[in-house]
Amino acid sequence: MRVHIIGCSGSFAGPESAASSYLLEQEDEHGRTWRVLMDLGSGAFGPLQSVIDPADLDAVIISHLHPDHYLDLTGLEVFWAYHERTDLPRLPIHAPEPLPERLSAVLSRKGRVPDGVDREPFAYEVLSDQQRFSIGPFEIVVRSVLHPVEAYGFRITAGDAVLAYSGDSDACPALDELAQGADLFLCEAGYIEGRDDRFSGVHLTGRRAGECASRARVGQLALTHIPAWTDPAVTLAEAREVHDGPIRVVRPMDILDVTT
Ligand SMILES: [Zn+2]
Ligand SMILES: [Zn+2]
Repeated sequence: MRVHIIGCSGSFAGPESAASSYLLEQEDEHGRTWRVLMDLGSGAFGPLQSVIDPADLDAVIISHLHPDHYLDLTGLEVFWAYHERTDLPRLPIHAPEPLPERLSAVLSRKGRVPDGVDREPFAYEVLSDQQRFSIGPFEIVVRSVLHPVEAYGFRITAGDAVLAYSGDSDACPALDELAQGADLFLCEAGYIEGRDDRFSGVHLTGRRAGECASRARVGQLALTHIPAWTDPAVTLAEAREVHDGPIRVVRPMDILDVTT
């Protein structure tokens, strides 16, 4: 399994990165490459097009309905609805239940059918805690995590390789479960110790991400969702203080191999 970092800026698009978006690729036993997008936050639809033709996507999974994780679905919807290829199948979008009405509100329309066309471009699937489903060679486990809105993390297995993604979450038992023994733990670290101590139940710090990785004995910790106003070196140092395993801070256009 490969993880392309499309955008990794925390909470809003930054000068060097779009907000959260990660493209997963895996070949199946027939050699067909499957492509699943995790999150499509503010600004991420632009760089996605420099990595793949979005028409090649098989599905999208949205962790929660904060704009830095879903807002560029507005662009993907225009792309899918008005593309000159009229044979595109409806694209499965796995997301919290209110997503269709949010998109319609942002796009100033009633209902799910874009103006001027006669069918919905997306097939919505509602996420819930403890859900399990497959997309081609990907097997996905969904858990509710700790964030001010309905929010999910994912544990994704392809072959023997396991990727865990925190979505946005503060430390919680479900996050430890998702990450348990994962080969790669793609984990948010939106806050830093001290500066952000007045907030709880929203984001991890580098330290809390490192502690979770340690408890879960992950193979590699990849820190993400670091906002433009935070020095990633501070986040990395916090994680290194509490976790001995390999740790990196992801950058846009990085490609991470998830291997056992
Ligand atoms: Zn976020
Ligand atoms: Zn959020």
